Amino acid sequence: MSAPCPQCAAPDQSVAVSQALADTTRPLAGPTRALLAPPPGPRPAEEGLSGAAISLSVLAAVFGLLGILSLVRNRTDLAGYDPAYRVGYLVGPFVLPLFLLAIAAIVEVVKRSRRPAAPAAASPEEEARRQLHTRVWQAGWLCRRCQVAFFPEASIRPGFPASPAIPVEQFPLWVMTAAERAFGADAPAVAD
Ligand SMILES: [Zn+2]
Repeated sequence: MSAPCPQCAAPDQSVAVSQALADTTRPLAGPTRALLAPPPGPRPAEEGLSGAAISLSVLAAVFGLLGILSLVRNRTDLAGYDPAYRVGYLVGPFVLPLFLLAIAAIVEVVKRSRRPAAPAAASPEEEARRQLHTRVWQAGWLCRRCQVAFFPEASIRPGFPASPAIPVEQFPLWVMTAAERAFGADAPAVAD
């Protein structure tokens, strides 16, 4: 399928927005790509450990390794010492690493408790609206020659009129308003 551009009236440089974004042979300019991007989906997953916690954990690992090496190297005969000294001798090198790991855990807990609570999961209404925006977005076309977006007649839904040429900067707003006009409460009922 091809659609004539409302600005230059030629279909040869017209391409579906989703196709234009996926086309690696003719990549879009960064700002254009961002403006034509699909409606945002759900929030990404929780981020990983903080830098401080990672640094402390690495330090703990280094000291722990040094502790093991010192125990392996100094094979002191502990037979003559009392049990408490023997335990202290064996455990001593690992006190600092364990201490550092504990601090790393505390740093991480404090950081997570200070972070503002993530917004509640999208409500059914928000999810429905997002799906309508995606549906409209999928109907969008781009003329590479004019660098304008447009919606061919009946592409959003049957009977919905063709759009004029839309400057790329106005595309995200157009998607939202067209979704409202085509599927909102005031939209005319059309069997589709
Ligand atoms: Zn054009």
